[in-house]
Amino acid sequence: MDLLERLREPAYTGENRCLPCTVVNAILVGVATAWLYRRDRTLASLAVATIGAGLIYIRGYVVPYTPTFAPRLIEAAPIPSSIFHDGRTTPGPAESTSLGDVADDGGAVLDELAAADVVMVEDETVQLTDAVDSSWHEEMDRLAVLSDGELANEIERTIPHVDDAEPLEVDDQLWFVLGTNDEYLSKLVAISELGGYRALDSFLDDSLRLAGARSLRMFLTVCPVCGSEIVPSTEANCCGAYADSGVPPKDLRICPECEQRVFEFPAEDSVA
Ligand SMILES: [Zn+2]
Repeated sequence: MDLLERLREPAYTGENRCLPCTVVNAILVGVATAWLYRRDRTLASLAVATIGAGLIYIRGYVVPYTPTFAPRLIEAAPIPSSIFHDGRTTPGPAESTSLGDVADDGGAVLDELAAADVVMVEDETVQLTDAVDSSWHEEMDRLAVLSDGELANEIERTIPHVDDAEPLEVDDQLWFVLGTNDEYLSKLVAISELGGYRALDSFLDDSLRLAGARSLRMFLTVCPVCGSEIVPSTEANCCGAYADSGVPPKDLRICPECEQRVFEFPAEDSVA
């Protein structure tokens, strides 16, 4: 399945799938199929339908340059564009919360991590030290084989401010609902942060361990849940459209297989 892997476009599929591009392509493939069929080119029409649908599925689009024309086409069409943006119809979590305080200042945390030998900063690149990296991965491997209930127990047992973590499946995705605030923690983030929290035990004070565990997520290269490679992405979809206008889209790291965010980089507001 090497060819399939090469054809895959995580940037335009999964969480990144762009609805305008998918819809426009499906219509164009449908028109081409019908045109060939009416000219008695039955086999060719079947081939176009099959290959076209397959490519849209694994690549996000089949017609070249779709991202440059699809949004304008959709904008001109007599249908509300809200259908294509923020189109989540089922109730449930949009993205994962963190075990730590999401309001933590990333820059200050990174300084603390460097001071505690959790990360090394060299030539403007930041890397985990080998000791932290290996103990983090050992902890994640151990957590990844636990059942959902056992993982929930581990969260309750380990994280001081979480008394209650309930596993909940929504749309085939496993989440942990934390406390009574209806905060949803994805399984991916749960394993990464819980493993990170444990690994940082001998490096950081309790007050910093959760913020540190959250930062470790940016260094994740392989998904602890499914084993896929973590890839860069952005909140802007492939057409450059972005639902939350006024707020710049963030750069992300995601697992394309789990369709989950691993890490969000802060929006670019401090370009020095
Ligand atoms: Zn995954």
